[in-house]
Amino acid sequence: MIYADNAATTPLDRDAFEAMCPFLLENYGNASQPYSFSVAGKKALKQARKTIAHRIGALPEEIYFTSGGTESDNWAIKGIMAGSHGSMITSQIEHHAVLHACNAVERLGVRVEYLPADRNCVVQPEALKERITQNTRLVSVMMANNEVGSVQPIAELSRIAHENGALFHTDAVQAVGHMETDVNCLEIDMLSASAHKFNGPKGIGFLYIRKGTAIQPYADGGAQEAGLRAGTENVASIVAMAVALEKNCEHMQENQIRLRKLEQIMEDRLRAENIDFIRNGNRGIPGNISLSIRGAEGEMLLHRLDLKKIYVSTGSACDSKNTEISHVIKAMKVPDEYAEGTIRVSFGAGNTEEDAADIARALAEIMNGMK
Ligand code: PLP
Repeated sequence: MIYADNAATTPLDRDAFEAMCPFLLENYGNASQPYSFSVAGKKALKQARKTIAHRIGALPEEIYFTSGGTESDNWAIKGIMAGSHGSMITSQIEHHAVLHACNAVERLGVRVEYLPADRNCVVQPEALKERITQNTRLVSVMMANNEVGSVQPIAELSRIAHENGALFHTDAVQAVGHMETDVNCLEIDMLSASAHKFNGPKGIGFLYIRKGTAIQPYADGGAQEAGLRAGTENVASIVAMAVALEKNCEHMQENQIRLRKLEQIMEDRLRAENIDFIRNGNRGIPGNISLSIRGAEGEMLLHRLDLKKIYVSTGSACDSKNTEISHVIKAMKVPDEYAEGTIRVSFGAGNTEEDAADIARALAEIMNGMK
């Protein structure tokens, strides 16, 4: 089989898996208990927080462990906006974790504006400049789009937010572990990340919250995560997340070069087969290839590839029940005759050059069979 849906989730790194085991089987003590049996867990949590903070240029006390990207996005948006008299600005190309959290604060009376994106799925800083007011409390724009991989001009967007007295949050779920991410260089106040997108376990992530940011707690209960996110710590998964992030960051450059090569092989091969397609996005995140194929239907391509044991995605994999054209493809205004035939191939650590060529060959077979 060929798994090429790494933007949806990645396989767990073996070192990360092995780092988890002692905290599941031997050192299983509750890390918040005061006795000596919990010392190993406590120490591991401290080290993981330090490792993760270092990789994004943060302080350890600015990292808050969560259950993943969805929770981090919800916390950042609701924790700032629920009960606020201010308004907020986000974009039309966000993941549903952000869009639906915005809908929730809208129901509480918060005004939310949705910035458009250009043909390459990029939110233009000018658009933010036009809409931002002194009443804007929060701006939330993703670092890299999950459907097409476009990287956003975060430094410029955050500067505009700050010049107008607003906080800046970014959903960096697709970026962390795949591209350099520094919260200080980019002037980010809050950043969401999720371990399963960088070969860590599912159900664990973090929210970076800049020191001094006034945010409401996500969950009330025990004193974990500085009293802001109660609940017994998932030590094993947190440790594995730190190992996976460290490993991805150490090999970032070589991974990027390898993934770019796979992209090129696939694209060249499709062109050689005379497939009429548009490659979407600004080629930001390495390995993320969104193709809109003329005259095809994304769902059909996905199922035909599935029969060949090739696993890719249409639109957004987090939303596979929604069969209509995704909000991102709509926001980018992909021409109608191409839009329906959109699929996303996302290569990762396990993919080879042969995989890239095989996927292109399989797509050509399917398309030529339709003629
Ligand atoms: N944000 C983006 C950009 C994503 O791609 C995803 C998952 O696909 C999420 C948020 C949700 O993350 P999680 O699956 O950890 O809840």
